[in-house]
Amino acid sequence: MLVTTEAVVLKSMKFRDSSKIVTLYTREFGRTSVLAKGARGPKSRFGSSLEPMSYVTAILYRKESRSLQLLSRCESLRPLRSLTEDLRKMAAAMSMLELMNAVSHEEEKNPELFELLVGCLLSLNAATKGYRNTLYFFEVRLLDLLGFRPNFVTCAGCGKELEGAGGTQIGIQALQGGAFCHDCTGQGRGLETYSNGTLSILRRMQDLADPEGATRIVMDATRESEVGTAVRHLLETHVEAIRTLKSEGVFASIL
Ligand SMILES: [Zn+2]
Repeated sequence: MLVTTEAVVLKSMKFRDSSKIVTLYTREFGRTSVLAKGARGPKSRFGSSLEPMSYVTAILYRKESRSLQLLSRCESLRPLRSLTEDLRKMAAAMSMLELMNAVSHEEEKNPELFELLVGCLLSLNAATKGYRNTLYFFEVRLLDLLGFRPNFVTCAGCGKELEGAGGTQIGIQALQGGAFCHDCTGQGRGLETYSNGTLSILRRMQDLADPEGATRIVMDATRESEVGTAVRHLLETHVEAIRTLKSEGVFASIL
């Protein structure tokens, strides 16, 4: 059956002499692998639409029984040039694509996940500052959509409201669902500790309506590093596959 879907190109690799196997995250079918015949020829009908980070309309010959679908046509829906022109934007975008690849399953539809990815890529493309914040926003929302929303509002130890609870250090424990107040953190639980301001930023990220808001949050280098570590710690605990991301270190060093 010939089907049309919006998609984001997650990965692309050479196949035989002239073709490519491309991993798409589609609105209609979730993550889908497609064969693009002749995609590497000089007059390829696919143009540059199969490069990672491309936001495209894809037409597939689709058979449910097949694990590799055949790509008939693919056209850029909205060019995201700024993502390829700025190395820091590219690093943040590639991290999002890797996470999508790690957390999604073949042929498992999740339109909300698709919307999150597209929204963050468009926002990052247009951003003039706070690039890395877009990635943090993506990660915080990813936790929500995967069903692992951490509780940053009340203490996981004593139930006290965390905002205004005082103390400079709080602990975060993914398996226990979120954050601990200063008093509970100090009780030898072996928690990873963060400053209270980092928790406020994580809470703001959870409440933001869109990724543009995240780019307006101003953080110094220490805070930024803490927010990044905390979010990655939460994601890693829940998603085993993320631990094995090969290029994470490479992208982190660019950012
Ligand atoms: Zn407590």
